[in-house]
Amino acid sequence: MILIDGKKAAADLREDLKKEVAELKTKYNKVPNLTVILIGDMAPSQIYVRNKEKSAIEVGLKSEVIRYPNSVQEKVVLEKIKELNQDDSVSGILVQLPLPKHIDKQKVIETIDPSKDVDGFHPMNVGNLSSGYESSVPCTPLGCYLLIKKIEPNLSGKKAVVVGRSNLNGKPMTQLLLKENCTVTITHSRTKDLKAECLEADIIVAAVGIPELVKGDWVKEGTIVIDVGINKTDKGIVGDVDFDQVSKVAKALTPVPGGVGPMTIACLLKNTIDCFKRSQK
Ligand code: NAD
Repeated sequence: MILIDGKKAAADLREDLKKEVAELKTKYNKVPNLTVILIGDMAPSQIYVRNKEKSAIEVGLKSEVIRYPNSVQEKVVLEKIKELNQDDSVSGILVQLPLPKHIDKQKVIETIDPSKDVDGFHPMNVGNLSSGYESSVPCTPLGCYLLIKKIEPNLSGKKAVVVGRSNLNGKPMTQLLLKENCTVTITHSRTKDLKAECLEADIIVAAVGIPELVKGDWVKEGTIVIDVGINKTDKGIVGDVDFDQVSKVAKALTPVPGGVGPMTIACLLKNTIDCFKRSQK
């Protein structure tokens, strides 16, 4: 069984991106700039944003964090986004989620200029992705896609089962696999026989949020299994896949932690660079 090393894949991607940023600097005499808006003092968001900023600077990007207290008015945030949209020195804008209850998440997402939407959440990017056009793609499914392609470069005709249909993970993952000519089944909490669906798959991507949901006898031999889940349990952090069982049958499997997680931030950097490159065309 191939243990898919997400840390190594992310480090390799960051190395490639670092070289690309250096080339862009030579060509345009400037580097891509990622601007993050962080609202409130929730510990996980603070940690995510610190890691994003650190990784951005490591590959040579400019990174700025704009902080607001939890009580900030929605209109202040929207005005700031509009200002950043107009600012040519800003390549990518990310508003760290979740937001306080009084701020409308959808309004925030739709205010970001789609060409600077490094999270790929704007309806324009969602539509472009599903139409097969160039777009920003949400970072976690993009990371999963790159890991799958490392194991199996030609996905044409493969049967893929995506477990979970969130806008963040399941739906964009489905679109990426469709683009690669997979036959994709998207499953969710109302799916009648999830085990039977999974048993058909050459590729399984689990993004559910239920610890160790996908069992060894749900997976046929030779399947590539990507575990997006991050679940806190009494025995520590586990994924949505029963690692001990599935590792005995799968062709390749991502561990949790150390699989998909490290790829997410690296893909955010990739998206920022791609937004910059498109803006220079
Ligand atoms: P979500 O709660 O938005 O969506 C979960 C999906 O799972 C839903 O579509 C639901 O229909 C489906 N589902 C629920 N119960 C099910 C069942 N019994 N059988 C089949 N499907 C079922 O979750 P999300 O935001 O997509 O996150 C999923 C997991 O991925 C979570 O554990 C989250 O922490 C993790 N996550 C990891 C990363 C990363 O970087 N690795 C990033 C984002 C989310």
